[in-house]
Amino acid sequence: MRIAIIGGGYAGITCALRLARKARGRADITLVNASDRFVERIRLHQQIAGARPPEHDLARLLRAPGVTLKVGQVTGIDVDAHTLAIDGEPLDWERLVLATGSRTDVDAVPGVRAHALTLDGHDVARLAGRVPALAGAGGRLVVVGGGLTGVESAAELAAAFPGLRVTLVTHRGVGDGWSAPGRAHLVRTLARLGVELREGVRVAAVSATRLETDAGAIPFDLCLWAVGFVAGPLARAAGLAVNERGQVLVDPALRSISHPHVYAAGDAVMPVLPPGLPLPMGCKAAGPAGAHVADNLARALRAAPERAFDFATPFYCVSLGRRDALIQYTRPDGTLTGEVITGRRAAWFKELVCRSTVWALHLERVGFIGTRWLRTGRAPALADAGRQELAA
Ligand SMILES: Cc1cc2nc3c(=O)[nH]c(=O)nc-3n(C[C@H](O)[C@H](O)[C@H](O)COP(=O)(O)OP(=O)(O)OC[C@H]3O[C@@H](n4cnc5c(N)ncnc54)[C@H](O)[C@@H]3O)c2cc1C
Repeated sequence: MRIAIIGGGYAGITCALRLARKARGRADITLVNASDRFVERIRLHQQIAGARPPEHDLARLLRAPGVTLKVGQVTGIDVDAHTLAIDGEPLDWERLVLATGSRTDVDAVPGVRAHALTLDGHDVARLAGRVPALAGAGGRLVVVGGGLTGVESAAELAAAFPGLRVTLVTHRGVGDGWSAPGRAHLVRTLARLGVELREGVRVAAVSATRLETDAGAIPFDLCLWAVGFVAGPLARAAGLAVNERGQVLVDPALRSISHPHVYAAGDAVMPVLPPGLPLPMGCKAAGPAGAHVADNLARALRAAPERAFDFATPFYCVSLGRRDALIQYTRPDGTLTGEVITGRRAAWFKELVCRSTVWALHLERVGFIGTRWLRTGRAPALADAGRQELAA
């Protein structure tokens, strides 16, 4: 069977390698990625603060039987003709896996596209190039976004560049929805690092030198926009059923509800029925979803019934510079407990988690199960109930 995977991130690579092992020569797998490198997105905040994370050659990472890498931009998918175009060149497939990840929405607020930088593509190098001089001059960096990406970026930059004046702007509160000890640690650490917190502030527009907000203007020398992650335009343009963020709507087996020959995983997917717990955009869910798609494709090859994806996570972690972090445990129902780990111990733990995402890929490549995850045990029953409800 000819299987095309678009996207060489955590989900796409996991899917390709696991399927190569399980298909035992019965699948001809082509992974298409825009670049010849695997980018560890979870380390991009370290990169803008001057770190040089390890480079991963995608061809080397994908050296597995039956897997071919094509480097290029997928510019269109014809879901009826079962073809896609890589920089205009056609590729036929029998099953397609969309693992194209996410990007920052730079069009939701006026001025962001023109005046702010993001953690996507070439902006990463631009930020890394501009921050040291800015810090040397005591310049002002504004980070917009109180989610994990914004918090990790603000903390990393403030810790690496004490001369930089960092402001974190968020329309909610930092760590809202986290346990009281978790939120307290986030707020305390950001204060210790000298990050000015502007909570409950909604940004209406961005100009070259300031944010226009409902609490007045906030001036800056450099603006990092770290909020509003959306899926890329491919799925919607192809006519697949998607949500407002452009994520592919999938059934419990992670197949498109409109085109069941298309699967999706990672940030690009949104199940219409709960896979145990709501699926977060995160590598913690991307790897497992990629692995589950591979398992289901292997079942399809044997004409065995495909299974519902079941996902839970035992903890969330946030890095706060290189010497501090927050590990927040969860209950089986996904709610956050009061139990947290903080400080250096947490920083080491978080570093281990980051490394384990790459180890998992290498393990899958050499024939072991690298990606394991916690399950709720509820997903199959929920999926059955949901199917009946949809049918009624
Ligand atoms: C600074 C930062 C810190 C983060 N920290 C965490 C964390 O601690 N924990 C956590 O769980 N998550 C974290 N995340 C989120 C995590 O990085 C993403 O959820 C994860 O990368 C999603 O994996 P993916 O495989 O779906 O997509 P990606 O890793 O984004 O990979 C998608 C790939 O598809 C390729 N692609 C896209 N469109 C096309 C196309 N048209 N043609 C060809 N190729 C294409 C891209 O080039 C890319 O290589 C963080 C993100 C950032 C930015």
